[in-house]
Amino acid sequence: MATNTIASLPFQDWGLGIDRPLLIAGPCSAESRQQVLETAEGIVRHAPQVRVFRAGAWKPRTRPGGFEGIGAEALPWLREVKERTGMLTITEVATPQHVEAALANGIDMLWIGARTTPNPFSVQAIADALKGVDIPVFVKNPVSPDLQLWIGALERFSAAGITRLAAIHRGFHWFSDSPYRNDPMWEFPIRLKAAFPKLELICDPSHIGGDPKLLADIAQQALNLNFSGLMLEVHCDPISARSDAKQQVEPARLGELLTSLVPRKSAAEPHLRNELHEHRAAIEKLDADIVRLLGARMDVAARIGLFKQEHNVAILQPEWWMKVMLEQQRAGQELGLSEAFVKAFMDTIHEESIRRQNRVWEGQELPVGNQGPAVLAKE
Ligand code: PEP
Ligand code: MN
Repeated sequence: MATNTIASLPFQDWGLGIDRPLLIAGPCSAESRQQVLETAEGIVRHAPQVRVFRAGAWKPRTRPGGFEGIGAEALPWLREVKERTGMLTITEVATPQHVEAALANGIDMLWIGARTTPNPFSVQAIADALKGVDIPVFVKNPVSPDLQLWIGALERFSAAGITRLAAIHRGFHWFSDSPYRNDPMWEFPIRLKAAFPKLELICDPSHIGGDPKLLADIAQQALNLNFSGLMLEVHCDPISARSDAKQQVEPARLGELLTSLVPRKSAAEPHLRNELHEHRAAIEKLDADIVRLLGARMDVAARIGLFKQEHNVAILQPEWWMKVMLEQQRAGQELGLSEAFVKAFMDTIHEESIRRQNRVWEGQELPVGNQGPAVLAKE
């Protein structure tokens, strides 16, 4: 897999006078000039912290028959918002024609929707249309939880010369019961940020929650996780909205929501750094111990693999494993570890252990000797 191929500047170097946390707000869709201007004016009045006004001109609907947006005719309304309020503007593009129209109408930034990101042909066509135009591009995660598709889309824009790139976390469609419209699965944006620490990452609580009641908790969690900003859907009259009516809030409610959030510093201040450093050193040592133990654990697995092969015993021993799992879950509980966490951790270990034994049987690998107990005995 290609890594670190995304070269993106931090917000403060975008030359647009923006910084963290970047707040983007506006209606799901631009429906009429009146609705766009009224919403923008409401945002300025109630939530002056908002720097970027969003509105979809082209709406990708999952099924046909819904409101598919006004199209390019809505773009001059966004330009008017910018002239009247000073907010920058952003809209969704899904084709080279959209890009051309957005650029012709002076739109400041573009976002790629969750239904476009997973299609490499569409993404490449948009990226090609942007060659030579270094406009900021925000890439939403794909509808399904696939980190590689998200990274791939970001890489295509980076390769096309876009230096002001950001990722938007809007949650993932999932089949289990969930209070969310799109499950946040925070591990995905966390993995993205771990792979590309400099990439600006913003959260879209409206599409994650699908319900105004959930917005504050999701937005706060994003700030707690060091996200660089938020995108929220706001409508001057949410119940009459032609798309995503259930999740949009009025500008006054946006104002309340933003003032209720507790900002987090992205790094500890100098006088706190020593203490943080001590905690980190402890964690680094424990992590090193965990990896060393895993090495020892897998070496024992390889030796058991050899033993089973010599004596013609099957690799998978589900009853024994069930017993180990229960014992570890019980022990974990006493240490404040959740059953689900211990299960997931132990399952991962078990799967690797089986892979090890298979490799031993196939002659691809041998145990490193008596390393397991020897390593443990050094303690
Ligand atoms: C939107 O932002 O209105 C939108 C269509 O979002 P997504 O692509 O995340 O569904
Ligand atoms: Mn929407």
